Amino acid sequence: MSTPEVEIVHREEFAAAHRLHNPALSDDENRRIYGICNNERGHGHNYVVDVVVRGPVDPRTGMVMNLVDLAGFVREEIVQPCDHKHLNHDVAFLEGRITTAENLAVAFWERVEPRIAEIGTCRLHRIRVYESRTNFVDYLGPRP
Ligand SMILES: [Zn+2]
Repeated sequence: MSTPEVEIVHREEFAAAHRLHNPALSDDENRRIYGICNNERGHGHNYVVDVVVRGPVDPRTGMVMNLVDLAGFVREEIVQPCDHKHLNHDVAFLEGRITTAENLAVAFWERVEPRIAEIGTCRLHRIRVYESRTNFVDYLGPRP
């Protein structure tokens, strides 16, 4: 019997401010594209991030990876740098990116993926970022 592969999920939440604004565009264009999300002084969200790891269930431990380790990676790489910050100004790894949920998901992937890869037996499968209860994005990593 082959070892079954399972996805495990760790969820974290953080609160942050941001402003959707592309400095390469005119103020008028920014207002047209982003609407109220272009508000000059920003606005806030309670973000929810799901980090999904996939791999075989280790027959010795019964686990894909230790969820305590996964929680630690997510807190160190995502929550601590972003919680109660202005994402446009306070978070070095978001510098130069428009702080949409799409771009957050990609940036979070880049931070968490090396930590998971280091384990060697499982892989990061998905980053899901909820900006609100009804709007979320999924990133499955760079295309092979
Ligand atoms: Zn927003």
